Amino acid sequence: MRVINALPPRGVPAEQVLAELTRLRSVDLPTHGGTLFSYVYDSGEPDLDALAQSAHALSSHVNGLDPTAFPSLLATENALVAAAAELLGGPEARPVGSVTSGGTESIILAVKAARDSRPEVSHPRMVVPGTAHAAFAKAASYLRVELDSIPVDPRTLMADPSAMAEAVTAETVLIVASAPSYAHGVIDPVSDIAAIAAAAGIRCHVDACFGGWILPYLRRLGVTVPDFDFTVEGVTSVSVDLHKYAYCPKGTSVLLHRDDRLRISQYFGYADWPGYTMVNSGIASTRSGGPIAAAVATMRHIGDDGYLRLAERTRRAVEQIARAVTTVDGLRLMAPADYMVVCFTSDDPDLDLFVLADELAAAGWHTQPQLPFGDIDASIHLTVTAAVEPTAHRFAAALRDAVDAARRRGRPELPSQLTTMVAAMQPDQLTPQLVGGLAAQLGLTDPDSIAGNMAAVNGLLAVASPRVRERLLVEFVSLLQRPTS
Ligand SMILES: *Cc1c(COP(=O)(O)O)cnc(C)c1O
Repeated sequence: MRVINALPPRGVPAEQVLAELTRLRSVDLPTHGGTLFSYVYDSGEPDLDALAQSAHALSSHVNGLDPTAFPSLLATENALVAAAAELLGGPEARPVGSVTSGGTESIILAVKAARDSRPEVSHPRMVVPGTAHAAFAKAASYLRVELDSIPVDPRTLMADPSAMAEAVTAETVLIVASAPSYAHGVIDPVSDIAAIAAAAGIRCHVDACFGGWILPYLRRLGVTVPDFDFTVEGVTSVSVDLHKYAYCPKGTSVLLHRDDRLRISQYFGYADWPGYTMVNSGIASTRSGGPIAAAVATMRHIGDDGYLRLAERTRRAVEQIARAVTTVDGLRLMAPADYMVVCFTSDDPDLDLFVLADELAAAGWHTQPQLPFGDIDASIHLTVTAAVEPTAHRFAAALRDAVDAARRRGRPELPSQLTTMVAAMQPDQLTPQLVGGLAAQLGLTDPDSIAGNMAAVNGLLAVASPRVRERLLVEFVSLLQRPTS
């Protein structure tokens, strides 16, 4: 573990501090260069970072707490919302919206707005497809809204509208569709789901956090993209992350509502204290103008023509990567790679996906393993961005080599008592001591070398129940997150 003293007895010169931080950053996965297929969204445009950094610095001390004190923030926020509304409003809707810190906040606020618009419902619920982003479960947990998660069609991995319709009760305040889902990159049947909402008189949120900024451009390039935004009657809110396919630095997303009456229950207003009257559109009170300024700078510099170009590069990269997968014996796409995700699984019992992910990582390709869940197989997920285009042609050979290496290595060796124990484990049996011992046994004590050595860990998690997976990883992360000195 790297140790850095954030409160040295005597201040450290600026140059030295930056050198130390640069050294720290060197152990991270590469945020640029098109070899990391999750966590980061890289346009590959060489001058964007410097521009975004300068814009961020200009406004980093501006406070979004009060839009009247900093008109620059209000203007830039309104500009971001207007751009998202232009892209996703359809021909008729004139949506309003807010800038948030990310997709999770947009989703929590959509759920809050839906819940608080129905104060007469004492035990509010929401109906989501089983592939909906975990942020909906987080919103449900934070806001005490019951989550009805409905299994998707195991073949297409699309939401099942008739099963969702059956789950709607008098207490349902929200129904959800993804465009597309994070795990497999599949667009749910938004029109059918929105029609259920309209018939029941409830809200329908479309989670376009992931794809909302690229799907309209892919459509302009000729890709068939079903309607998923305010074009669809019955859709009441849409979320789109700017820090994904708008290629803005981390910390911005937009939540749109079809009209301002739908948005009003999103606000928190409070005057019952002796301080200033608080009015917040989002979760945070004090919030930095930095990410907002950086987003406006990024988007104005790329422009509509630029996003079309970046979508074209992404499209080409997706095609090359998907072709590489389909030409390898034993691998199968989980869903057609129609948009910006390539997700595949293994049909070959001698080819362990988690070993394959480690082999790819050893060769410099950082993909995201996904555990088996219910009827849905384990898979390897790749979020493909424009920066992948120049490297995509090398992926095919790398994948073939990694598959050969993974076949030679076989399945990870796990003591059978250990897998039996984990498979039978109850969440409340998991003590910090037990997890600490397990982490040591699996060689997870050095955070610098965990990534890329996960086959055994994933193999173990794969046999654990979701509740045990959660507890194991919560305890593990809690072990990592300790003050250092
Ligand atoms: C990324 C993502 C989210 C959550 O966004 P964060 O910015 O990580 O909070 C929600 N939904 C989908 C489909 C996503 O891909």
